[in-house]
Amino acid sequence: MQAEKSSQDSGEPPSAHPAQGLKKFSSAGRGFWHDVSEADWNDWRWQLKHRITTVEQLQKFLPTLTPEELAGAQLANHKLALGITPYFFNLIDPADENCPIRLQVVPKLAETQTATWEMSDPCGEDSHSPVPGLVHRYPDRVLFLVTDRCASYCRYCTRSRLVSNASGYDFHPEYDKQIAYIAAHPEIRDVLLSGGDPLLLSDEKLENLLSRLRAIPHVEFLRIGSRIPTFLPQRITPDLCAMLKQFHPLFLSIHSNHPRELTTEVRDALARLADAGIPLGNQSVLLKHVNDNPDVMKTLMQKLLMCRVKPYYLYQCDLIAGSAHLRASVAKGLEIMEKLRGHTTGYAVPQYVIDAPGGGGKVPVNPEYVLCRNAGRVVIRNFEGKIFEYPEAADGRPCGRPPERIEEPELV
Ligand code: SF4
Repeated sequence: MQAEKSSQDSGEPPSAHPAQGLKKFSSAGRGFWHDVSEADWNDWRWQLKHRITTVEQLQKFLPTLTPEELAGAQLANHKLALGITPYFFNLIDPADENCPIRLQVVPKLAETQTATWEMSDPCGEDSHSPVPGLVHRYPDRVLFLVTDRCASYCRYCTRSRLVSNASGYDFHPEYDKQIAYIAAHPEIRDVLLSGGDPLLLSDEKLENLLSRLRAIPHVEFLRIGSRIPTFLPQRITPDLCAMLKQFHPLFLSIHSNHPRELTTEVRDALARLADAGIPLGNQSVLLKHVNDNPDVMKTLMQKLLMCRVKPYYLYQCDLIAGSAHLRASVAKGLEIMEKLRGHTTGYAVPQYVIDAPGGGGKVPVNPEYVLCRNAGRVVIRNFEGKIFEYPEAADGRPCGRPPERIEEPELV
């Protein structure tokens, strides 16, 4: 699919993707795989088996590979494996080296350049791991790492140390220990299955795991984080949806970064999940030349709502080793948030967060709307830049008593 004109052809800077036309839902098409049977193409296992995983395949299917991409692909498997499903590959515009789909999955040599402040574990997950495969960072919830495999590999992956096992990370899914830990900690009311991608497990394995978690009385809420709906919508079968439906309340967070990822195939897959009663959210990563454009981001958010998906988080790209070429600035993120809030429905506005480097957790980052505040009033600014004053409520304090002193933050 080449719905967008090449930014190179138009002479525009790469970040100036024209948003016009991106709202349209189109099929990814068959591309090189036009003679594959309908049954095979729609079989998720066929898609996985025929992923592009070698430099030779990449050169064959993408003859416009740049020297930077070729060198990156030759070295890719030392850090994070190369893997692209045929379905997702068809979204790449071969004529555009700055194609926002291509930038996300085709390796570049720049991945091998690491700045001193970049890390292999930027969110400090390993230091909050009481048993292998479980991260207990926040008081009432845990991250349960189910697998180290994904359908395709994102070049900016926060868990690139773990997924695809290219870096030899010691990943041992020990479900018994993970489940025993959760059962022994009654404060855990929320379990997020992630990885790697949990939806790569067979229906039977996933059902077994979800059943064991559901059997723990204090686990109120289950979540799955998955990029499968956008990388491999064929995996969202009616059988999978019927199985997942047994485990409500079960939420699913998908991951999409550009409106072109929302094809007719993805829209239909998301409809199957939504029809199974699964509340859907989306997590996006702010990426340079992919979605660091307010119009592109707004289109993505609105298109997600059309697929019954609530935009949940917009992440500032973590300080992952070798990701500088894909990281947009925080200033750009704030500009985008400023152009979303008030300019479109609040349902389309995600929370912009920075995962504090080294393991501080998610910190919300917002444009400044409170201009000043004291015991008597709050001065606020709206999305149009107009200033308003709101008289502060007494809040039970005796009249005239000053509010509690605000401590200076401690720098770490
Ligand atoms: S799907 Fe998620 S875990 Fe897998 S490579 Fe992409 S960001 Fe990483």
